[in-house]
Amino acid sequence: MADKKLVEAITSMDEDFAQWYTDVVKKAELIDYTSVKGCMVIKPAGYAIWELIQKQLDDRFKATGVENVYLPMFIPESLLQKEKDHVEGFAPEVAWVTHGGLTPLQERLCVRPTSETLFCDFYKNDIHSYRDLPKVYNQWCSVVRWEKETRPFLRSREFLWQEGHTAHATMEEAEERTIQMLNLYADFCEQVLAMPVIKGRKTEKEKFAGAESTYTIEALMHDGKALQSGTSHNFGDGFAKAFGIQFTDKDNTLKYVYQTSWGMTTRLIGAIIMVHGDNSGLVLPPRVAPTQIVIIPIQQKKEGVLETAYALKDRLSNFRVKVDDSDKSPGWKFSEQEMRGIPIRVEIGPKDIEAGKCVICRRDTREKTEVALDELEVTAGALLEQIQTDMLERARAHRDSHTYVAENMDQLEEILNSKPGFVKAMWCGDQACEDIIKEKYAATSRCMPFEQERLSDTCVCCGKPAKKMVYWGRAY
Ligand SMILES: [Zn+2]
Repeated sequence: MADKKLVEAITSMDEDFAQWYTDVVKKAELIDYTSVKGCMVIKPAGYAIWELIQKQLDDRFKATGVENVYLPMFIPESLLQKEKDHVEGFAPEVAWVTHGGLTPLQERLCVRPTSETLFCDFYKNDIHSYRDLPKVYNQWCSVVRWEKETRPFLRSREFLWQEGHTAHATMEEAEERTIQMLNLYADFCEQVLAMPVIKGRKTEKEKFAGAESTYTIEALMHDGKALQSGTSHNFGDGFAKAFGIQFTDKDNTLKYVYQTSWGMTTRLIGAIIMVHGDNSGLVLPPRVAPTQIVIIPIQQKKEGVLETAYALKDRLSNFRVKVDDSDKSPGWKFSEQEMRGIPIRVEIGPKDIEAGKCVICRRDTREKTEVALDELEVTAGALLEQIQTDMLERARAHRDSHTYVAENMDQLEEILNSKPGFVKAMWCGDQACEDIIKEKYAATSRCMPFEQERLSDTCVCCGKPAKKMVYWGRAY
């Protein structure tokens, strides 16, 4: 009975997806709640996933010439106010520091919700000549946004992220970097997180405060809701003009720089949970699994069992491997491996040792195979690759089978009310139509995908000539 307890405590995802999610983050020991509302402790099992994300993203950044820096967490109010759209966008959710010790501050400081203004203030003094360009900087840090509704990883008041901030001599170069980073994000999501994404541009209504254009990658969660998974913004020279960031170009004239910013957050952990998880808990793609293989000894008190388990661990040292030699029953350990989403478990007992084999079981399909002990390294390596590929394909198939087409409002309503997923529909380009769809169905334009299709000639909402195909959906 004890074996089942761990799993029984999770709500079924079909019954109540939100509760299932909460159960998984708690039971898989990814987070804990704290006495600060909307802020969480990221526990070792959760933080290790973030570290793997961070490491692999950072390597990819550096391969494109990105350098890491660190800026302060405080922004003077006057600095935040320099760019009008930007301050309007963020003012409702910033936290303010008003005192230093017991003394009221002359000027209050906000805790960074994002660092565009700080980077601009820094670049203003650091960039003088075309020789100082481009600047391709990134910082890993936490930011604070005073959200009203919070959920672990998806929306918390303080979260971890990276924010890239670049400055260029030309608009073309800035645009190129904006798209380069979006492509990098998309590739990372597919190759590392096994999560397919739609690449596209945000509409004027949905773009970042102060940006000229915002590009996004959008993923579909298991419950049919969309999750914005990363964004890349081209600021043009708007911030440069507001902050006076100028350089002397080769022709000896003074010009404004063109800037970009781009970010990904701990939200991605929420995405992994909601794209791959099942009713037994987490299912981690091997490339972000802190433990890729767990070896579970059967009848571990019998002679030679633990020794063999440890010998196998040594042989699997190319992978992230653990031996679960705790005094819990094997059944309990199996449930735990499933809850934590460890991609492969290896079962090894006295009879297996005698026969020179072990049993390996993959988390994603629960398929079990017997493997000769001498072949374990090769088989396990190939299986991890296979799991990674299969998880991406399954997620893609799920997304594709939950993507619909609507040509008019009746169809849009029917789909949004009965078939959770992405809806592709044509749009006239008028914000009024976006407002109507948002108000009526709580669905937003997710993006205007790079891969455009001509589904019909008229706007799904108003019937006027269509300009763009848009992905619509309810989103986290
Ligand atoms: Zn319209």
